[in-house]
Amino acid sequence: MANIVAIVGRPNVGKSTLYNRLTESRKAIVDDFSGVTRDRHYGQAEWVGKRFTVIDTGGFVHGSDDVFEAAIRDQVLIAIDEASAILFVVDATTGITDLDDEIADVLRRSSKPVFVVANKVDSAKQTHDTHEFYSLGLGEVYNISSMTGSGTGELLDELVKELDVEDEEEEELPKFTIVGRPNVGKSSLTNALLGEERNIVTPIAGTTRDSIRIHYNQFGHEFLLVDTAGLRRKSKVNEDIEFYSVMRTIKALEDSDVVILMIDAKDGIEAQDINIFHLAEKNKKGIVLLVNKWDTVEKDHKTAKAFEDTIKSKIAPFTDVPIIFTSVTEKQRIFKAVETAMEVYENKTKKIPTSKLNDVMLEIIEKYPPPATKGKYIKIKYVTQLPGRSPMFAFFCNLPQYIKDPYKRFIENKLRENFDFSGVPIQIFFRQK
Ligand code: GDP
Ligand code: GDP
Repeated sequence: MANIVAIVGRPNVGKSTLYNRLTESRKAIVDDFSGVTRDRHYGQAEWVGKRFTVIDTGGFVHGSDDVFEAAIRDQVLIAIDEASAILFVVDATTGITDLDDEIADVLRRSSKPVFVVANKVDSAKQTHDTHEFYSLGLGEVYNISSMTGSGTGELLDELVKELDVEDEEEEELPKFTIVGRPNVGKSSLTNALLGEERNIVTPIAGTTRDSIRIHYNQFGHEFLLVDTAGLRRKSKVNEDIEFYSVMRTIKALEDSDVVILMIDAKDGIEAQDINIFHLAEKNKKGIVLLVNKWDTVEKDHKTAKAFEDTIKSKIAPFTDVPIIFTSVTEKQRIFKAVETAMEVYENKTKKIPTSKLNDVMLEIIEKYPPPATKGKYIKIKYVTQLPGRSPMFAFFCNLPQYIKDPYKRFIENKLRENFDFSGVPIQIFFRQK
């Protein structure tokens, strides 16, 4: 299950400082090869081996003062719906304000775990200041200093107890998520896949959360379909706000290896589709594009190619992505979509033997070496695939700092030409040797 922790609170209490601390700690654990996604507002954190996504809701509040409070209220409501746990940050140096009280009112009505975090307790002698926060009626108060990190360990120990642990056996199965704008056909596709073999499909309800994993095992394909399509939000907030769609998409992406992004053939690829695509790419997820409702398009032998070209020009530079033209209602190419998602998963998880990688790539590099810079020749000596959840390659050379982006792209293209990485973002690093 996707574990999302939302940081809520009024402005200036230290939400973004806490966010940085939580996501930094993750960054420090993994080495610089991993290319962990960090963004200003959401990123990965890890504590005692449990990974989760942290969202700083403060980063999503825009507008003038009068819309401010309403926006914060909306976010708290969304966080209650969508997050696994909530960190409610208050400021120990100012005490409880009206806005704190309002937020607490909303949080008290939720069943999600809420942690009251009294921030800016930089030294032990400030501890007594925070007793008043018990009156918020949300239980334990955790004194921390986001600035120095003091107290965050105790908070995280308690926080991770509320998060889902992955079922190990399930973990080994590929996880696919169908995403896309409303009405593209996500639920229809899910139902079509289920309908084919009802008796061997076992729905596994998400433990406490709101997504459902469907264990699919048919025609030699076994995977988990993470179904968020049928979910409907519970609170009365505006669905269009940026925070909501970002939260929703991240949640769907987090829990999957391969994202099946459906677009509507009638509309073509739109800005929102492209945003989802980039989010998946940035998170190093496998991607399959389905152009659904293909039955509604008048076509000749050139139509599919024209669609592909348009889509690729809009998702560039990462265009090595399978595009499948489906009609869920006519049952066209539904299984092709599943098979392709499976192939993308295999591409994403395969390891290229080092000897083969070197045989192929060093020969290419010898023929087309990186251009000399400032009179210096760059010699690439050795390449290896790094361990990780998505393909990463390290090229060891004498002067990595002189390798420019165009050459990096050239290397990526050659990797893609020689080893199938269709649908999979790959990362390339040049390292000193
Ligand atoms: P946000 O608006 O809730 O995201 O708050 P920020 O993270 O931007 O922090 C607001 C101010 O509080 C900044 O000046 C921070 O440097 C300061 N701040 C944040 N955490 C701490 C802390 O633990 N101790 C102290 N003394 N100041 C802090
Ligand atoms: P969701 O909101 O993405 O889950 O979309 P739905 O699965 O609810 O589908 C929205 C509408 O599109 C429904 O009326 C479906 O019957 C219709 N639909 C789904 N797939 C196709 C398709 O391939 N062709 C046509 N013509 N209609 C489709």
